Amino acid sequence: MALVVQKFGGTSVGSIEKIKKVASRVAREADKGNSVVVVVSAMAGETDKLITLAQAITHTPDNREADVLVATGEQVTSSLLAMALIDMGYKAKSYMGHQFRIITNQAFTSARILDIDTERVRQDIKAGNIIVVAGFQGVDEYGNITTLGRGGSDLSAVAVAAAIDADVCEIFTDVEGVYTTDPNICSDARKLKRISYEEMLEMASMGAKVLQTRSVEFAKKYDVTLHVRSTFSDNEGTIVTMEDDDMEKVVVSGVTYNKNEAKITVWGIPDNPGIAASIFKPITDADIVVDMIIQNTSEAGFTDLTFTVPKNELAKAVDIVNSLKESLNAKGVTFDDKIVKVTIVGVGMRTHAGVASKMFTALSNDGINIMMISTSEIKISCVVDAKYTELAVRVLHDAFGLSELNTKEESI
Ligand code: ADP
Ligand code: ASP
Ligand code: MG
Repeated sequence: MALVVQKFGGTSVGSIEKIKKVASRVAREADKGNSVVVVVSAMAGETDKLITLAQAITHTPDNREADVLVATGEQVTSSLLAMALIDMGYKAKSYMGHQFRIITNQAFTSARILDIDTERVRQDIKAGNIIVVAGFQGVDEYGNITTLGRGGSDLSAVAVAAAIDADVCEIFTDVEGVYTTDPNICSDARKLKRISYEEMLEMASMGAKVLQTRSVEFAKKYDVTLHVRSTFSDNEGTIVTMEDDDMEKVVVSGVTYNKNEAKITVWGIPDNPGIAASIFKPITDADIVVDMIIQNTSEAGFTDLTFTVPKNELAKAVDIVNSLKESLNAKGVTFDDKIVKVTIVGVGMRTHAGVASKMFTALSNDGINIMMISTSEIKISCVVDAKYTELAVRVLHDAFGLSELNTKEESI
């Protein structure tokens, strides 16, 4: 008898019919004699709706209250799914984050999990119950409701799987697994049989929203193997696990894109020591996370500095930079929120040369101008005009032959 964690995302529980279908799928697992702990997201679009409600009250909602509000989405689906299972003749119990006791720190809206109390749940499992956990939410040491950041139900599932030492952690979603790129924008995208935590982490943090970045970090840290698969079919999905020798043979495993950033340029700044510090100190003091930074070589003693920030922080960041313009003696500040960051990811890049030039050539062959570049050991990102999003993804997918079966698949 196995202990199985199954997580169902928003689209999988987006309607009453879908919740009933999920209940049948969970029941099938229980019928095999396995113990099942289910983690659910809110119905598709519900969290966005709740955030819009808060924004209609104020543009700066109190974070504690925001968490009380958005956590309700998962309360609805967990109780509905438990009801459906009970109606089918199974023993089932829903648990909110505070009832399960998923203990987090107090960082409202992006809380970190500190501990999970499993005693009560273990007893309920022993008594033959299917446990349905409301994803995305926890509780701090003072009893305040907290949430784990957007897409956080993935993290709930991984953390619960680690805490109860589950045999399997399945992430059910609306696509058949992790693909070489988003299958919804590139029809040639190919499902990967396996992907390493490292690559998945880069793909997730670079925009592949199929798994939340922090959930992959957690899975890697606690060695939880994930099976990402479709709610709507029985096909095998993608295994996310530790890197092995076969994976090294693949130079590029995926292409991602992220449209959630904007770039700001401060131009005509006298090139003196300390300009970067005087711009980025107030930006980070305002809790704005800067991603890419480029400083041009100075010409006639003047330089330009361009950097990217999350789109929803653009107005705040521009205000800060404008307030510094005079003291920096800068000639101007411009910004652009119609950009996309396209990224190629692959552990094989560590040992292969020429990957960057291949990427730049492929983009330029299709007339796509590169505005910014950044690299790390296993990824290369380029910022381009957002109007080229789909074209850039397809061009790179083709250039690196990702639609063809590679050594990773053949070796399995
Ligand atoms: P859920 O509601 O189940 O959590 P999400 O919408 O968060 O689902 O994530 C699934 C979506 O991720 C897919 O519909 C797909 O458009 C997108 N996606 C982006 N990149 C990838 C990729 N490389 N592989 C699979 N899906 C991807
Ligand atoms: N409902 C939350 C969100 O939309 C959490 C999740 O779906 O994983 O971000
Ligand atoms: Mg998700």
